[in-house]
Amino acid sequence: MSWHLIIDADDTLWENNIYFEDAFDRFVEFLDLPKLTGAEIREHLNLIEIENAKTFGYGSVSFGRNMVECLHQLSQRPVAAQDEEAVREFAHVILDHPMVILPDVVETLEYLSGKYELTLFTKGSHAEQVAKVDRSGLARYFTHVEVTKEKHREAYHGLTQLRGMDRERAWMVGNSPKSDINPALAAGLNAAYIPHSRTWVLEREDLRPAGPGKLLVLESFAGLREHF
Ligand SMILES: [Mg+2]
Repeated sequence: MSWHLIIDADDTLWENNIYFEDAFDRFVEFLDLPKLTGAEIREHLNLIEIENAKTFGYGSVSFGRNMVECLHQLSQRPVAAQDEEAVREFAHVILDHPMVILPDVVETLEYLSGKYELTLFTKGSHAEQVAKVDRSGLARYFTHVEVTKEKHREAYHGLTQLRGMDRERAWMVGNSPKSDINPALAAGLNAAYIPHSRTWVLEREDLRPAGPGKLLVLESFAGLREHF
């Protein structure tokens, strides 16, 4: 069978969310609010993130903006310009984080790209995502790289149409139930879910098998070799 494999990037090919978690931990320390737990601050920031993603999208710069907004809402003291700058910097250092490729990814891409056309499909800031693809050294395994603002059902319809793929012969591979698996299945594609223990909380939801597509749950990226 000839498949189209569409593969997510952040936390599927390389570490990503751990850097955002580190930035958040520094932010909690900086806030210094003994009456609020980290989890409570996270809840507050989540609401800001959900709202702002509609306008500003995802990525490190948006994350910095969201933490600054959270700082204004929660801070017990007047917020100075240098406080804002310090908080933004917690997020902006993510732009230069080292690319840590997940185990067996290179070997598995080598194998898969020898058999199928691979498409990398990632959401976020266009410049930031493209820079990560470059720094990863993995671009050569993909015939096409697509960065999108949001990965909803319509985005999967758009991508398969743009690339001339039959949806029943297309698989989405990724770590996010919300962005990779559920919308791909809803769009009529197949999906392979590879959980990552540090997946961003806003990407988590129950798997919702839907439509005619198959759903695979794998323990690791290397597991793709047993199915393709
Ligand atoms: Mg991901």
